[in-house]
Amino acid sequence: MINHSTKLEDLTWIPRPRLLALRRLGIETTEDLLTHFPRRHEDRTEFPQFPREETDARICLCGEVIKTSLRRFGGWKKIFEATLEESQPNALSEPLVCRWFNLHYVQKMIATGQRIVVFGRPRLRGKRMCMDHPEFEVIENDEELSIHFRRITPIYPATEGLSQRVFRGIIYRVLHEFPNAGWQPIAPTSLVRGERSDAIRAIHFPESWEARNAAREHLVLSEFFAMQLLIASRRFESSAQAGQAHCGPGALSDKFLEVLPFELTAAQRKVISEIRHDLAANYPMNRLLQGDVGSGKTVVAIAAMLLAVEAGYQAAFMAPTQILAEQHYEVLRRWLDPLGLHIALRTAARQEESGPLPLFVRTENLGSARLQRAGDGILPSRTFVEGESTPGAQYSRRRLPHFEKPWAIYAVTITTAHRRTLSPQARTIVLNAWRHFHNTRYELFAICVMPDHVHALFQPWPKNETSQEQTTFWSLTQLMRSLKSFAAREINRAEGKTGAVWEKETFDRYIRSDRDLAEKFHYILRNPWDADVAKQNEDYPWIWTEDDEMRASRSSSPQNAATNTLQACAPQILAGDDPQIIVGTHALLYESVSFSNLGLAVIDEQHKFGVAQRARLTAREPAPDVLVMTATPIPRTLTMTIYGDLDVSTIDEMPGNRGKIVTAVRDTSKLGEVLSFLRIQMEKGRQLYVIYPLIDESDKLDVKAAAAEYELWRERLHSFRCELLHGRIPASEKQQIMDRFRRGDTNALISTTVLEVGVDVPNATMMLIENAERFGLAQMHQLRGRIGRGEHKSYCILLSSIRTEETSAKLAVLERTTNGFEIAEADWELRGPGDLLGTAQSGLPALKIGDLKRDADLMRRARAASMSIFEMDPLLELPENQRFRHLIVEQKGKSYSHVS
Ligand code: ADP
Ligand code: MG
Repeated sequence: MINHSTKLEDLTWIPRPRLLALRRLGIETTEDLLTHFPRRHEDRTEFPQFPREETDARICLCGEVIKTSLRRFGGWKKIFEATLEESQPNALSEPLVCRWFNLHYVQKMIATGQRIVVFGRPRLRGKRMCMDHPEFEVIENDEELSIHFRRITPIYPATEGLSQRVFRGIIYRVLHEFPNAGWQPIAPTSLVRGERSDAIRAIHFPESWEARNAAREHLVLSEFFAMQLLIASRRFESSAQAGQAHCGPGALSDKFLEVLPFELTAAQRKVISEIRHDLAANYPMNRLLQGDVGSGKTVVAIAAMLLAVEAGYQAAFMAPTQILAEQHYEVLRRWLDPLGLHIALRTAARQEESGPLPLFVRTENLGSARLQRAGDGILPSRTFVEGESTPGAQYSRRRLPHFEKPWAIYAVTITTAHRRTLSPQARTIVLNAWRHFHNTRYELFAICVMPDHVHALFQPWPKNETSQEQTTFWSLTQLMRSLKSFAAREINRAEGKTGAVWEKETFDRYIRSDRDLAEKFHYILRNPWDADVAKQNEDYPWIWTEDDEMRASRSSSPQNAATNTLQACAPQILAGDDPQIIVGTHALLYESVSFSNLGLAVIDEQHKFGVAQRARLTAREPAPDVLVMTATPIPRTLTMTIYGDLDVSTIDEMPGNRGKIVTAVRDTSKLGEVLSFLRIQMEKGRQLYVIYPLIDESDKLDVKAAAAEYELWRERLHSFRCELLHGRIPASEKQQIMDRFRRGDTNALISTTVLEVGVDVPNATMMLIENAERFGLAQMHQLRGRIGRGEHKSYCILLSSIRTEETSAKLAVLERTTNGFEIAEADWELRGPGDLLGTAQSGLPALKIGDLKRDADLMRRARAASMSIFEMDPLLELPENQRFRHLIVEQKGKSYSHVS
């Protein structure tokens, strides 16, 4: 008897090549097979009468072959014709001629006297009704007929290497052999009608369209339910966590609101009171604040932070980039200094983006070389050079296995012998062993010591830095050998044991690109949560990144922070004088030393921020309240999914003092007119952003391109002062450029999308986006949010020379509306059901049948059902809820199936 976990290879009737084809589709068990749902169905219930007119729709006909012929034309070309007669012909019936051109095999398959079924478009050719190149199937016996025809027939997605017919046949037989009791229900009966087993049968071979639709609904609801159950469990896990009230009486925030030069909008007030309610409760807040660009989220965040500060806690305000962190810092100081608050700015140390160091500079000043930081200031950035003939890289080949290159970076995994579990103490020993050689034998980027294995990401260093001619590197083998034996010895000694600690083998992978590095890095940082070794809201102490080390050394010797450009900007970081509000980049998360008393963390621009990172923040005990803010409105169904574990507050109203934004799409050929318009505005004192697309900011060539772009614009706007802004300009300089623009010293800013989020200069009322077709709608909406911030009317011009329907439709959306939610919905429509924000980031399993867009309503129902289960039984203790526990564990397994 088969069940859902039966391996297909155990079904002897499936031929081997078919098994391999199925495996390529990721289908290994009967469950995989039966949940490979049809993409659509075809109505083949009844074979209609043979047509006497052409139709555009493809139709399915059945008949008997009464004649075949092979005709030649044009020398070597052949047409094979089969003439079909209807099964029950009447006086008016016409035969149908099916034609195949140059298909030799067809003539071998079709013979007079056979019954065949064809599927295609009937066309009148002369006097004859023909069907060219129909799909056809020969009916061999009546069972065949009942599987593939005379029914609503399933058509499957991607059956590469398998014909629909073969695939359908396998499904049919497995379904037939599958016991009804083999399916456990997923969703509660209050949510779905009927049995899962029936739904599975009916989705493949429905008796009617109604049955098909009902089955689909059942399966989609089940799928959504399982997903929402996982989300609800996350949500209840965190609210069951110990939290504290972090809410003062409100005098401080009232004072702040009084000095504001404007009145809050009703939406802002509503949202503040929602947050206040959460802050005052003694469970941790997990709230998402959604609000379009310019809707005034910052003010709300400040009011919230002041409530926490007043209650005696620290608040953290995290931005995705350094520019934004610095801007928030300015804003906060401007508004809060009068209240006598102590605010600090902290971002990860970095020698700002002056381009990656030349590969070998480090050999000369080894030790003093500090890291380059990319993005959030978390991940080391590296230059990757293919090939071994890097100039200056003289190394002894003999000492290096072929894959070891100078400055190679590896991801290694070592496993404990017989999966021996490392005690917490042992894990600390391992961690320290690896740290021990950090910055002497290698640079360790990240390490995670799991209970029975270790992942590390590191770059071996040269051994003999003094010798100029011959540079030899620490080899992977050497390093592994010494690390393993060092740690094993220590562990055995500490635990009074003997015997092997490690497997002999080390799994290693050579890192080839920045992307690879980033992936591996994040993989390591997430590992304990992904593998369910740590709970979503728990900390896992045996993870280490370079940031941790730098921070430790910085805090012990502040003098050492010569490279920390930002400390200079934050003079009020004084020992023993804890700031009440700390502003920084997301890297603050990893900074365990900076908070003495964190009560509220505000995370700006949540979409750049993953679930695991959030988990790391909420891992603290007692958990701080967390407010995440996003200016990327997303369709409601997605909010329920991607941010399903958060409570949502929405600012759905713009401050009234806003000037209107007029948006217009213009062909590139109209640049002249556009320029003269812009100049008129600039003469009135308004300022301009010019946005041009760069494909890859990290590409060196693009720096040149940026410079060329800039020259061009200086000519076009001569007599006005322009400045160039892009991602490779060092932060301090960027800051100065922004300051000059803010003060009005510069009239135009020629910029890449580094401008994207948060920048706030009310006098900038014009934006010109070049090659607008290259940007996404959401991104352009974000960009456009930089203007229309003051009382003047603003103009956004989208330049494009592409005239395709798709581009026009896309750009028209922006002309039509400035409402971010409408844009998000439109974007979704235009893009199809694709991955709007990356389900990978959301840590949710991929959908097999449900469609977030089309099935929004089902998602709502599934969500309500899963929430109500948790509301009634938060710990899932009731016997009837036990199966949901299993379901959650299973779902978690599916969400992170990409283990290396
Ligand atoms: P975002 O939601 O994009 O973060 P900000 O918080 O940066 O928006 O606010 C944009 C601008 O609007 C800021 O200059 C802010 O001072 C101003 N602002 C915020 N709330 C109001 C309001 N209620 N009335 C007028 N201006 C406001
Ligand atoms: Mg903002």
